[in-house]
Amino acid sequence: MPLDALKLMEVAERLAFRGDRRRYYRFRTDRWYGGVASADVVGCNLRCVFCWSRSRDPNAPGKLLSPEAVAAKLYELAERRRIRQARLTGGEPTIGWHRHTRRVAELIVRDYGLHFILETNGILIGLDRRIARDLADLASEGSLEVRVSIKGAKPETFERITLVDRRYWEAQLEALRVLVEEGLKPGDEVYPAIVMSFDDEEDIRMLIKRIAEIHPALAENIDPEYVILYPHVKQRLAKAGIWPRRFFRPGEPLPEWMI
Ligand code: SF4
Repeated sequence: MPLDALKLMEVAERLAFRGDRRRYYRFRTDRWYGGVASADVVGCNLRCVFCWSRSRDPNAPGKLLSPEAVAAKLYELAERRRIRQARLTGGEPTIGWHRHTRRVAELIVRDYGLHFILETNGILIGLDRRIARDLADLASEGSLEVRVSIKGAKPETFERITLVDRRYWEAQLEALRVLVEEGLKPGDEVYPAIVMSFDDEEDIRMLIKRIAEIHPALAENIDPEYVILYPHVKQRLAKAGIWPRRFFRPGEPLPEWMI
């Protein structure tokens, strides 16, 4: 029986939040996007079998932090490394948007003047247009980008690899649509990533066609995502009885476009 993305969201809200505070698994700087201060949120509304992030688990350890504390920590990290970008990643950052994440984004963009990067599976944006509106408002006052990672090229693949009901696949495309409609620049302030490890080429082509129908610039700026076979990822895949068609091994040099 597939899981329900909204029920998983509620579990994360119950276990990883207290009022406006959310638990964070870790803070770090890394090389993605040319250098970025990153915060890994605890809790996700999917259970991807290839997930490498330990922080998706709503019981993952970490610290409960207010939006002010999160933004300040990211700013401090960015300053120390002389970088101008901060991102929310790890689990699903849009969980708790109205009571926590929106404020983090506002502080990063307005108060600290950093470029804000939101990595999301898009489902909650597709279901709640107000998030897209907030992001578009913020983009008009500063600088941000939203990377919507689409899990699989079709609903059947989505259900197989996320363990969540296939009806939520469409919400990821809807997220791209509403973000563009609300005013984010397609291909620049909003763009898709596609998990390409589990589908055949024809299905991937069909998905790209659908994305192009939302806006051609989205289809021209797709980030391909492939599974990296870390040992814990391998174990999860084996348990689910799924093996990727395309993947990378840990330590294998990643192509330029992934860095
Ligand atoms: S959406 Fe991301 S964080 Fe959540 S389970 Fe999938 S890969 Fe992990």
